Amino acid sequence: MRLILMGAPGAGKGTQAEIISETLRIPTISTGNIIREALKSGSAMGRKAKQYMVDGRLVPDDIVIGIIRDRLAQPDCANGFILDGFPRTIPQAEALDRMGVDIDRVIDIEVDDETIARRVSGRRICPSCGASYHVDYKRPTVEDICDRCGDTLVQRPDDHPDTVRERLRVYHEQTEPLKSYYVAAGKLYAVEGQEEISDTSRLVLAALEN
Ligand code: AMP
Repeated sequence: MRLILMGAPGAGKGTQAEIISETLRIPTISTGNIIREALKSGSAMGRKAKQYMVDGRLVPDDIVIGIIRDRLAQPDCANGFILDGFPRTIPQAEALDRMGVDIDRVIDIEVDDETIARRVSGRRICPSCGASYHVDYKRPTVEDICDRCGDTLVQRPDDHPDTVRERLRVYHEQTEPLKSYYVAAGKLYAVEGQEEISDTSRLVLAALEN
């Protein structure tokens, strides 16, 4: 299963990707997580991407396309994968097609902007392993501590309200047109994001069985 998860920032792509990844035993590839890692390590790519991410803008296509090309060539992607946060522009989708990657399904998790703004303010991430939590919907076992690796959870700098507004604007302008792209390819399945994570998962997993 080669899958794309689409949706606005904070729609729950990462959380659903984790659940599908465990259910189907295929890796999740999050360009956001890969860029955050690069930023932390201070690599050349991280330095190039930094200001875009901080401002809530998209990192240039050639950088993220290169990231995806390298990652999809890894052996663990041979039996399928979930793309979380890629593609985000039409040129990125076209590049994926040109790589010969035949996507089986694109799941679009739909959540309105007001709900997004509320949800994102409660999101916390682990700076070490990238795991994502929420103060109301997905609490760690011990408050503020990552269940997986024990590090202290933080708020993403780009989850602050002004940056989230910019990220939503960018989403509507540059990423939403991808819906028509994948509708035309007969691959898009829209799912309404629910209040409870498990309710959204049921809808997402059902869409995979269609
Ligand atoms: P995410 O963790 O998916 O919300 O991504 C965080 C940030 O990383 C985005 O706001 C962009 O600055 C950058 N980013 C992640 N994926 C992409 C992509 N496919 N194209 C361009 N920028 C991206």
